[in-house]
Amino acid sequence: MPALPPTLDDGVARLPGAGPRVAESLAKLGVRTIRELLFHLPSRYQDRTRLTPLGALRLQQEVVVEGLIQTSQIHFGRRRALLCRIADDTGALTLRFFYFNRAQQLRLEAGRRVRCFGEVRRGPLSLEIVHPEVQLIDDARPDATPLDGALTPIYPTTEGLHQARLRRLTSAALEVLARESEQTDAIDALIARHFHGGARLPTLTAALRCVHRPPPAVDVEALRQGQHPAQQRLAIEELLAHQLTLRQLRKRAQQLTATPLPVPRALRAALLRAFGFALTRAQQRVVHEIDRDLAKPVPMLRLLQGDVGAGKTAVAALAAASALSAGQQVALMAPTELLAEQHGRTLSKWFGGLDVEVLLVTGRLGAGGRRSARTLLAEDRPRLIVGTHALFQDNVAYANLGLVIVDEQHRFGVNQRLALLEKGARDARRPHQLIMTATPIPRTLAMTAYADLDVSMLDELPPNRQPVRTSVLPASRREDIVARIAEACAAGRQAYWVCPLIEESEHLDSQAATDTAAALAQALPQLKIGLVHGRMHEREKDLTMQQFARGAIELLVATTVIEVGVDVPNASLMVIENAERLGLSQLHQLRGRVGRGSAQSDCVLLYKSPLGETARHRLQTMRETNDGFVIAERDLELRGPGEVLGTRQTGIAEFRIANLTRDRRLLPTVQQVADRLLDEAPVLAEQLIARWTVHRAEFAKV
Ligand code: ADP
Ligand code: MG
Repeated sequence: MPALPPTLDDGVARLPGAGPRVAESLAKLGVRTIRELLFHLPSRYQDRTRLTPLGALRLQQEVVVEGLIQTSQIHFGRRRALLCRIADDTGALTLRFFYFNRAQQLRLEAGRRVRCFGEVRRGPLSLEIVHPEVQLIDDARPDATPLDGALTPIYPTTEGLHQARLRRLTSAALEVLARESEQTDAIDALIARHFHGGARLPTLTAALRCVHRPPPAVDVEALRQGQHPAQQRLAIEELLAHQLTLRQLRKRAQQLTATPLPVPRALRAALLRAFGFALTRAQQRVVHEIDRDLAKPVPMLRLLQGDVGAGKTAVAALAAASALSAGQQVALMAPTELLAEQHGRTLSKWFGGLDVEVLLVTGRLGAGGRRSARTLLAEDRPRLIVGTHALFQDNVAYANLGLVIVDEQHRFGVNQRLALLEKGARDARRPHQLIMTATPIPRTLAMTAYADLDVSMLDELPPNRQPVRTSVLPASRREDIVARIAEACAAGRQAYWVCPLIEESEHLDSQAATDTAAALAQALPQLKIGLVHGRMHEREKDLTMQQFARGAIELLVATTVIEVGVDVPNASLMVIENAERLGLSQLHQLRGRVGRGSAQSDCVLLYKSPLGETARHRLQTMRETNDGFVIAERDLELRGPGEVLGTRQTGIAEFRIANLTRDRRLLPTVQQVADRLLDEAPVLAEQLIARWTVHRAEFAKV
């Protein structure tokens, strides 16, 4: 009997040309079935359909060019290279090869005509392409090597899996799709009905075909911008799938159980006394929201959004008290050691007199220390455990974890949230979770990225805070600024001088900070100056921070290690060098280190001229507003959601085709449709989730 032709649900190994090795590589990309291969979308396109004259080249452009080789010679510089100079009637270009053999060198001799493809860069002498793809052109038969007829899709890939192979495989998959595509997709109908202009969007099948193999007449610009109807059709579906995934997570979390935690009247009253301040109205409201969650027999999953300095730590402490009073453990995770130690100090101060043990677990404990910490965690005793991600390593087990608090959460994606939930699992019981953001996240983005969480807003600063005054000055005004530091410190205040990361190398940056500290020490001999940077030992860093917190250091020179969370209320002046290099959220975070006491605070943003358009816009925004929510919106516009959510740092590419900035207007409808789907067509919802989810295995755990 002849084998049946493959179907979309078959494994990729059934496609012609795909053996077990290819299947293995594809599995690394989250692709196992032919259907999944069809949802492995090009990340971009190359335009090899036309020649670009050498006189019209632009930096960073990927182009096909053609020219006559003028010279071809080996250059013995820092690194041996073969340099070919090519020219046409409009201009010239250098081709640079680092890897070449004798035969290749001979092939590229002067007088030959070549066609090349590659990215244009700025070379030491002229524009160049490094390692272009090269084709020799026969001058006698110019038509023998035609240009491509359509755009070339470029796929995200993994080692050993070449673009050409991926293109052959997706072509084969598209043929399978063509055979099966009589069935109309229920989602097509749904989109046509609910989305504005949805009826004009292509069907799923047509959209997939178009993005994999854009036809020659395609609107290239629309495709580049992700605005092509085929891309929009897919983006809607992906956003829907994402919403459904999060909602399903939430549903499943609600089927789990947690220990209900009543409000601990006595401990809470004592803690409030230990704070030494009255809660703001916003803090009271949020604490109340948390109390209500904790009282339920299902795990809390709450995101606490608050502007810098709004007092999230006090809220966290109050939540912790509820679990501790009920005899449970609480784990508070901070993003850096510096911050973990600060939380450790703050919480020890608050809880110290209340017979609550605060245990600091950081990476620097050493093997022995870590082992004994692990032993303590395995004891069923109420403790408040503070640390970094070390708290959630595989070899750490908790005896009775009732609450997990994550500070500065924007570095954690959905998968990490899941892992956290699993950490304290005991049968169907899970710990409550409180997740705190470092800076506000724009509403639309929060709705989308955290649809599995309830959100509380801490939108009020403690009283008597004066807004930080921000000025933007060229670096040439440095001397004036040094004088201002002298003045501020003479008046008993403290200051930060921040040298942001400039080089790729932490070594060079630490050096720059060290040099700055030395220069400032010379200019300000009367001041006690401290230095923290990424290459210092943790102990040393910590010691310096403590001295600064005590007031024993007046001026702290630092790299951006002090970015998140550091709290020294007496510091009221901050200077940020090379401010033009930093993103808005980062600047806002840094600035949030001052303005924490009752003194008027200042932030000086020093920039190097000339300022680019975006940088000017950023600095302007910083001068105009102190409102983290406004800044977050601007940041989203300027940098896009990947940066704002920090997904780039964690390496989670959340979306394959959707773009939260570009597709923002789709989100409200996506939310509505997702709600209806879960209620009315759960099977369809499952299908949608399945075809867009790469990390099935991880989601399946819940
Ligand atoms: P963030 O929300 O940025 O984490 P913190 O929790 O570090 O802010 O709080 C900032 C500062 O404000 C701390 O010194 C804290 O003790 C203080 N603080 C918090 N809440 C209040 C309040 N209600 N009244 C006065 N000061 C407060
Ligand atoms: Mg904080």
